[in-house]
Amino acid sequence: MAMKINGDLCTACGDCEPECPTASISGKKGVFKINAAECTECDGEYDKPQCVKICPIKGCITQIAA
Ligand code: SF4
Ligand code: SF4
Repeated sequence: MAMKINGDLCTACGDCEPECPTASISGKKGVFKINAAECTECDGEYDKPQCVKICPIKGCITQIAA
């Protein structure tokens, strides 16, 4: 399971990137993305995805549909 960033909503503020315990978030040329192969949904580290918690835009980071 993994999270994804909705590019239409993301303002590229960069706040999520340093919060990720698995360093799955990268910002290149102002476009922020989550590496789905590395994102653990913060399982085992935090009770909630830290990127969702810090992101100021509601609905910007969502779970990838299984
Ligand atoms: S859910 Fe956790 S591991 Fe996944 S991108 Fe967000 S902060 Fe990183
Ligand atoms: S915190 Fe939200 S708005 Fe800011 S870069 Fe990350 S996903 Fe985009």
